[in-house]
Amino acid sequence: MIPAVRSALRLTSVAMLYLVAAPVYLIRAILHWRRISRGLATVRRGTVTCPHCGHANPLNVLSTCMRCGVTEFGSRLFCSNCHQVTRWFDCARCHATIKVF
Ligand SMILES: [Zn+2]
Ligand SMILES: [Zn+2]
Repeated sequence: MIPAVRSALRLTSVAMLYLVAAPVYLIRAILHWRRISRGLATVRRGTVTCPHCGHANPLNVLSTCMRCGVTEFGSRLFCSNCHQVTRWFDCARCHATIKVF
């Protein structure tokens, strides 16, 4: 086979692979964006209501990071020291685990 034809076939097959994979990556990006926007809406609201007892847990409290151990005021879902994002915490009233996002 002529080398120019072989490289053209190789480029075409790579382009076809990207075309087939593009919708999958698009759907993954949309789902990722929806999860992030839900988390940002929760942070903007400032409280997370417990689904078990109905207590409104504030996010701006003194909390300790589960990874690096730094204790600080601010969002209990984000550590400003190590940039750890916490997806759950325990309810202040009934101590049940609340998954935020
Ligand atoms: Zn931390
Ligand atoms: Zn609760």
